Amino acid sequence: MPTVLIIGAGGVGRVVTHKCAEVAEVFSDIVLASRTEEKCKKIAAAVKAKTGRDVATARVDADNVGDMAALIERCKPAMVINVALPYQDLTIMDACLASGVHYLDTANYEPPDTARFEYRWQWAYHDKFRDAGLMALLGSGFDPGATNVFTAYLAKHYFDEIHTLDIIDVNGGDHGYPFATNFNPEINIREVTAECRHWQDGGFITTPAMSSRQRFQCPEDVGEYTIYRMYHEELESLTKHYPSLTKAQFWMSFSDNYLKHLEVLGNVGMTGIEAVNYQGHDIVPIQFLKALLPDPAMLGPRTKGKTCIGCHVTGVKDSRQKSAYLYNICDHQACYREVGSQAISYTTGVPAMIGAKMMLEGKWMRAGVWNMEQMDPDPFIDDMRQYGLPWKVIENPNFNLA
Ligand code: NDP
Repeated sequence: MPTVLIIGAGGVGRVVTHKCAEVAEVFSDIVLASRTEEKCKKIAAAVKAKTGRDVATARVDADNVGDMAALIERCKPAMVINVALPYQDLTIMDACLASGVHYLDTANYEPPDTARFEYRWQWAYHDKFRDAGLMALLGSGFDPGATNVFTAYLAKHYFDEIHTLDIIDVNGGDHGYPFATNFNPEINIREVTAECRHWQDGGFITTPAMSSRQRFQCPEDVGEYTIYRMYHEELESLTKHYPSLTKAQFWMSFSDNYLKHLEVLGNVGMTGIEAVNYQGHDIVPIQFLKALLPDPAMLGPRTKGKTCIGCHVTGVKDSRQKSAYLYNICDHQACYREVGSQAISYTTGVPAMIGAKMMLEGKWMRAGVWNMEQMDPDPFIDDMRQYGLPWKVIENPNFNLA
């Protein structure tokens, strides 16, 4: 029976470990490894208390291919789930190739010294994985991840051809802190402060960060929010794999308070990614800021409210114009009660488990490097309902999106 090796004992790692433990028939043995083994042990103890299952733990420096490969040799997993940071994607992929195991992650590779997320570094591994008979599944979180599957599902079942895509990520949660991020602060702030790019008429158009916004009324009781257009990595793969898209945009909600703090931090240089020498020490401002901010993994008990993340697609079906919106609503407190994490970690960790399950069950097993929308969305989206992320479709909603 397969063993899964999970790398990264942060907020997302906690959820993935809990959810894998729930599915013993697929994940018979679980090893959780991270830079700080103490964090793995805490998660393992929580999983034992919740499910009765044992999770083995280890320390690893995933920036080091040799260290990673030695760990893989020791525990002989069928696959690695990478929920460390995007900086480690390539070293973990190299270690998987060296040891002959499959790979999955939730965020595309970013070089530490450039805030630029692109798939080209990981897509370049396609032939190596294919020739080794191994699979690498990229971006199996929520966005990217479930949003790619939502788009593929709508394209498959609701349209003959899709023309526009708006991915809308609303977090209506409140953690009560003046400023905190819901996942790794360094990665989150790099993403949010990057220039915006959206797809239009065959190419990406660049605009200043946060320069386009609109109001969005979420379905059910989630409320109305201001959403801001920003770049998100799934736009790159979805526009490649759905060439009929003439426009594709990603929108995320932010509170005025969050944006005001970010503006001030940016103005004083605290979000910078280049080292500053302070009293003989090289300090990267954004890494120092991360050390000051609340740990996202600790936000669970305080965060109240709901997330609402979905894809709005327009296109044609049977020669008629139509639109459809596929979304999930997730309650922060319900997630906390289930696995001890807030909904951002939960909505990322559940799809990571389901992606791994798809691979190990053979439903999605294909040699090479793949994005989620290249697989059949049906078994994945069915499992989302079963493992805590139910979804709904509204056909021809009366949204008036810009
Ligand atoms: P955290 O910062 O909470 O956790 C990251 C973990 O990785 C920490 O335990 C950290 O160790 C560990 N780590 C970092 N560097 C190394 C290393 N060199 N070797 C071994 N372990 C290392 O982040 P999150 O859990 O919030 O996010 C995890 C991943 O999920 C990120 O890549 C993030 O971008 C992605 N994500 C994806 C989303 C999606 O929807 N697709 C949404 C949210 C997040 P230590 O504890 O010692 O610092």
